[in-house]
Amino acid sequence: MDLDQKITEMNVWHLSLPVLSRRDHGIGTVEGACEIIVLSLTSESGNVGWGEASPWSVFTGSPEASLAALQRYIRPLVVGRRVGDRSAIMTDAQKAVAHASEAKAALDTALLDLTGRILAAPVWALLGGRCRSSIPLSVSIADPDFKKDRLLLDRLVEDGVGIVKVKAGFKDHAFDIMRLEALRRDYPSLKVRVDFNQGLAIDEAFKRVVDVAKFQPDFIEQPVRQDQFALMARLREAIDVPLLADESVFGPEDMRRAISEGICDGVSIKIMKAGSLTRAQDVARMAAVAGLQAYGGDMFESGLAHLAGTHMIAATPEITLGCEFYQARYFLKEDILETPFAVKDGHVLVPNRPGLGIQPDRDRLDHYAVTKVAA
Ligand code: MG
Repeated sequence: MDLDQKITEMNVWHLSLPVLSRRDHGIGTVEGACEIIVLSLTSESGNVGWGEASPWSVFTGSPEASLAALQRYIRPLVVGRRVGDRSAIMTDAQKAVAHASEAKAALDTALLDLTGRILAAPVWALLGGRCRSSIPLSVSIADPDFKKDRLLLDRLVEDGVGIVKVKAGFKDHAFDIMRLEALRRDYPSLKVRVDFNQGLAIDEAFKRVVDVAKFQPDFIEQPVRQDQFALMARLREAIDVPLLADESVFGPEDMRRAISEGICDGVSIKIMKAGSLTRAQDVARMAAVAGLQAYGGDMFESGLAHLAGTHMIAATPEITLGCEFYQARYFLKEDILETPFAVKDGHVLVPNRPGLGIQPDRDRLDHYAVTKVAA
């Protein structure tokens, strides 16, 4: 059947996924479990497309808000529509509910997955075609107990991972410096990046950022609060390593402002912030036109959202700094995909099968469900 067939069914799961370790980031902590929303869309031919919303309450929004956006405001725009009307459905979703970018990313992902499965085409083919078949993987170092992160670092080196991102600014400055010294001394093969996740107060930001820049990381990411555009611009002037914006830039609208105010040398691009795979590509293109670099960031995700990000980056040549899709392999106790999210020699492998290429295991969805809404 063609793309004129209707979407007949939409299911939404709210999952709580147990995690292996505590993660401290500048603005908050994740411990015990992370919560995601999974969406499935079924078409008349019985094909199913999948998508994930991966909110973090201190950053993008709450799982409850994503669930409500999908269930109450987006469902009436989707069920009964034609599979091929993705752009129209996404435009209607933008108008129906403000913000809720993770819910819209899940919707876009599920529509693309469904379309790809019907056409027997990978999602990257629907997004402009492939520019790469693997993506360098960065893994975040964020455990408040650095001894535990050393075990992770040993495993990463053994697995061939070549990039780590140190999450900084959640404890004192000495802790950050100690970890950077240890990385340079004991793990010299690793490329190092630093992300403050908005964690620095205005009065301490300059000293801490300048000190960290002495270690010459690949980049320093979002040292101060997302709305501190002027301070970001001044910090950028004060250091000789690239400054990246993450929380300051959600979608193309923020990217335009970030460029005009000169707050960064690069940007972390996430489908959960942009609100769709296409809008994430738009951010990357705006950045490149302005001479800025782009990095493939993520939230606390399962392999399902990783897959969406992987297909988006595979079709976006402007994203040159790799990705951080490490949670499925190094953070979750168990991922939800039927077959593992593929990582080899420190690189994420881009799937070559229809749609996203892998689908969730339904038994695991039911097992980890806090709530399921079916119709
Ligand atoms: Mg970040």
